[in-house]
Amino acid sequence: MAEKRQSAAQTLKEIMGWRPAFASVLQAFEPILSAQEEAASALCACAKDSGLSLPPVQNNRLEQGVSLLMGESLTGTAPTVQYCADRLLPLLSSLDALAAQATSLSTFFAHCHEGDGQISDTLVNAVAGNDEDALSSLARVEGVEPSLLGFTAGFVVGPVLHALVVNSFVDGAALWEGIWRQGYCPVCGALPTISWLDKRVVDEKNAFLVGGGGKKHLHCFVCGADWTFRRGACPACGKEGSGVLEFLRESGTSHGERVEWCTSCKGYLPNVDLREREFVPHLDALALGMMHLDMVAARNKLRPLHPTFWNIPS
Ligand SMILES: [Zn+2]
Ligand SMILES: [Zn+2]
Repeated sequence: MAEKRQSAAQTLKEIMGWRPAFASVLQAFEPILSAQEEAASALCACAKDSGLSLPPVQNNRLEQGVSLLMGESLTGTAPTVQYCADRLLPLLSSLDALAAQATSLSTFFAHCHEGDGQISDTLVNAVAGNDEDALSSLARVEGVEPSLLGFTAGFVVGPVLHALVVNSFVDGAALWEGIWRQGYCPVCGALPTISWLDKRVVDEKNAFLVGGGGKKHLHCFVCGADWTFRRGACPACGKEGSGVLEFLRESGTSHGERVEWCTSCKGYLPNVDLREREFVPHLDALALGMMHLDMVAARNKLRPLHPTFWNIPS
């Protein structure tokens, strides 16, 4: 992405200026997203030493649409999960929804790194594989409400997966760049939470090399991966062509924000056109701050491609 990248806190502050009605929700998540960001960058510095890495890339598997972690098991995750749990659990436990389960959750994460760290590995693979059955089994053992464990584990494990993804770049390029053509994540297989159109590219060494921007990228909330995708195609059902995707946007200044929805499967995805913004936002913070469009989508009987805690239709 281009320079002028915002931190989660900067993106949330900008959005609160535009949509003060969301301030209390965004302020509640600001410390959590910031702690995730800090944990991910700290883990990036040591992820290779800790033995955590993505499995070797086989281009033919990527070409066939096999995500990197499909059929793979990450091991040795306990130290990194402990690092994230120590930083995130106290913040998550202060949310009203989790307060009643704070003790069970802290017991659960205390057990995660006992012994050979098997619980931790199972947890990371369950989050990375979006495996709700595995999460429910883990929750039952400690008497934690499964949906709350899923919510908490997503935040705690997120930085571990983000560090894996960032550390897998070679010379600034993602391993899947130019190969991956699917609407789901090349790393974990989840459907995206938000898409973005890139800014104009200016090559300072050659004034004639100016790209128009507007290339479409999808972003994964689970592992943090981004990948390019065909602009006129639905990431969920794959249908493509003119008239497949329609748009919903706020009247007035939209800051490049809109919802793209598929006329075929009725799935929708928030989208931001970075050519209409000065700064490159933190995408998870932005997705949270676009709840107003999730509400519009829900009223239109559309369903989010990737259900999250802020977009589940009532
Ligand atoms: Zn992913
Ligand atoms: Zn579709």
